[in-house]
Amino acid sequence: MIKIVALDLDGTLTQHKSRLESECRNVLSELSEKYKLVMVCAGGCERVFKQMNGFKIDIIGFYGMEYSEIKNGKIEIIKKIKIENDRIKVAEKVEQLRQELGFTEYYGDSVEFHESGMITFPIIGTTASLDKKLAFDPDRTIRRKYYNRVCKLFEEYNVFIGGSSSFDIAPKPYCKLYALEQYLNTYGIDKSEIIFFGDDYGVGGNDSDVYNSDIRFIPIDDYREFSRIAKEELL
Ligand SMILES: [Mg+2]
Repeated sequence: MIKIVALDLDGTLTQHKSRLESECRNVLSELSEKYKLVMVCAGGCERVFKQMNGFKIDIIGFYGMEYSEIKNGKIEIIKKIKIENDRIKVAEKVEQLRQELGFTEYYGDSVEFHESGMITFPIIGTTASLDKKLAFDPDRTIRRKYYNRVCKLFEEYNVFIGGSSSFDIAPKPYCKLYALEQYLNTYGIDKSEIIFFGDDYGVGGNDSDVYNSDIRFIPIDDYREFSRIAKEELL
């Protein structure tokens, strides 16, 4: 008996960083009458809320480092975790990777530190143009090739192939599975009562920990198929 429907956003409900379309919104509205809905995302809650056009839904951001609820149409951050990184050490490791893997040319900053403690390693730099970012590694071959090396160097972190041309680096134990487990504990709900929709379940993908767990996972390979698949599964 499913009680909670958990959802990834980019690539699952929408095109990467694009607004929620009305067909999908309608299906979510229908689902919300039968189930509790929660988004589990790599990005921050506020960005997700905007991208969802203000749809009323619980949002877990930054791999479980930020929790929010929507009240009276406004987003309220109810929990925010901050972890201090040794930024010098992290920057050294990123530099080591750049030298070792040959990514010595980049635009803007070499590494990006987020307030939460999450880190982005933007391989071609923070200010590379969107065109350059999209063209860099569209099928993820480059990042999959070096994924294990990045994980090894950042042992105290969970590493994901993120965005179009970067690695997301989150302090352990933060990841989508951990975030969901915390959420389930809060509501006293069992893992067997949740279903997760995600697109990024391959090696290094940010939904892969949920995919590899005992939580029921519905793969979405094309976000335009979400509405049909969700209806078939749940309505
Ligand atoms: Mg995704």
